[in-house]
Amino acid sequence: MNRYIATLAGLTVVLALGASDAYAAVKVVTSTEDLAAIVKEVGGDKVSVEALAKGYQDPHFVEAKPSFILKLHAADLLVAVGRELEIGWLPPLITQSRNTKIQPGSAGYLDASLTAKILDIPTGQITRAMGDVHPQGNPHFWLDPDNGRRVAQALQQKLTELSAGDASYFAQRYADFDRRVTEGEKRWKAALAPYKGTKIVTYHRSWPNFADAFGLDVIGYVEPKPGIPPSTQHTIELIAEMKRQQVKIILVEPYFDLKTPQSIGRETGADVLMMPPSVGGVPEASDYMKLFDYDINLLTTTLKKLTGK
Ligand SMILES: [Zn+2]
Repeated sequence: MNRYIATLAGLTVVLALGASDAYAAVKVVTSTEDLAAIVKEVGGDKVSVEALAKGYQDPHFVEAKPSFILKLHAADLLVAVGRELEIGWLPPLITQSRNTKIQPGSAGYLDASLTAKILDIPTGQITRAMGDVHPQGNPHFWLDPDNGRRVAQALQQKLTELSAGDASYFAQRYADFDRRVTEGEKRWKAALAPYKGTKIVTYHRSWPNFADAFGLDVIGYVEPKPGIPPSTQHTIELIAEMKRQQVKIILVEPYFDLKTPQSIGRETGADVLMMPPSVGGVPEASDYMKLFDYDINLLTTTLKKLTGK
């Protein structure tokens, strides 16, 4: 009986894959699950999409697998976050894919950062001093819903370019996503409105666009610089600053060790929240809208408890 069900399930999967391959006009690979989620919103059943990195992995440091090269080899379109987020792992895979369609500069390569609002752009000389992994501005821009909308619009144009016959389908899907993002923004901003200006600390510099969009004030980071692990000296200074400014929340991305944040939490009385910055970071954050639903619910629940508001 069990074997019969397993076989049947396997068959269904095979049929489903076959069907999506047969009808999908454009085969898309994305570097992250956030981008794959937005591709699904715009591309619907006219595209097939696979993300390379999982949402629970640090997108700066992804372990390359041979299967990634196969996926890239077969792709019509590769969508990357850009701003050097994937510089440590994606470029060699693109080369090894031997797929001329998706090489940077080709029609099948889309840098999602090109139409996004980018924060933390360094002034003066661009450098990776001390291993700073954000030398070209902050690459975590998808955490402002308006950037989700901008990426979706760029995708609508790109997919239309690659599959002109589906232009009106992609336009309708984009319009529907745009409408839902606008409704979501109203809901999320209203939920956080009572806590406007709340000071927080985050592990990595993942949240400037999110903080900007929703009125939070990030006053410090557990990492001394993006991509650099915590040091004793920096932690001591951060604890003092958090005490001075009475910071009661530390956000930690799911892929970082909780030891240092928890010891900072004990010293300062701050709550440590494991908050996913990506779709797939926790099972509940299963699409772009649900990522914000999850994160904002987590924040407001905690803020309500802390402030009584
Ligand atoms: Zn980063």
